[in-house]
Amino acid sequence: MAAITKNEMDVLIRLQKAETETVRILSYLESIDKEKDALESKLTTFVRALDRKKNTLDAVSKEIKDIEIEIQTTDDRIQKSNDTLRQVKTDKEYQVLQREIDNNKKRLETLESELLKKFEDKDIQEKIVQEQMVDVEQATAKIRSDQAAIDKKCEDDRELLETYKLQREDIGASLSPEFLRVFNEISDASGGLAVVEVKKEVCRGCFMNIPPQLYIEVQRGKDLILCPQCNRILYFNDADEAE
Ligand SMILES: [Zn+2]
Repeated sequence: MAAITKNEMDVLIRLQKAETETVRILSYLESIDKEKDALESKLTTFVRALDRKKNTLDAVSKEIKDIEIEIQTTDDRIQKSNDTLRQVKTDKEYQVLQREIDNNKKRLETLESELLKKFEDKDIQEKIVQEQMVDVEQATAKIRSDQAAIDKKCEDDRELLETYKLQREDIGASLSPEFLRVFNEISDASGGLAVVEVKKEVCRGCFMNIPPQLYIEVQRGKDLILCPQCNRILYFNDADEAE
């Protein structure tokens, strides 16, 4: 067991306070990153849903165009047949042409009623797309503003993190390299909690009882003592003695 002075123990405790703050902010920043990602994927879902509706609308518009072209072609054919009709010599020719004209007219009727249905369909799809576009715009604005608020908060926390980092270096500099090494090793192995208080024979790091003899030694504060269970540096707070 390495001997430790009261002053060195105090430095370790202060170092732990800076470390605890650092760990707290880092874990907050990590959780906030996840929150931002979740918002982003929510937005992506909205935009994809809108894209699907736009595709449906595009498909209907394409169908309308196709029908319009076919109507035009059929109309031209009827026109041409009518022109030819005036020049035919025989009844037979006349009948064949007339049948062709009738068939094309029937086809034209079908196409026109199909076109009407498609126009109705297009109106509905347009309304859906418009409504969804408004929804996406609103959702985007809301999500962007939420993300900006998160960024602002993160900015403050990143500054604070830098402050604690400097503070940690500052405090660490006044500690012997050996103690600093021990602190860093234990901190790395114990989730950033290297120095813990012992209160009423209980380690505040792992909440296990420590042997009475060890408790006495911790209270004396002459040696660097580690918890037998969690291996953290133990200290006794003199203020607790009054309790
Ligand atoms: Zn412990």
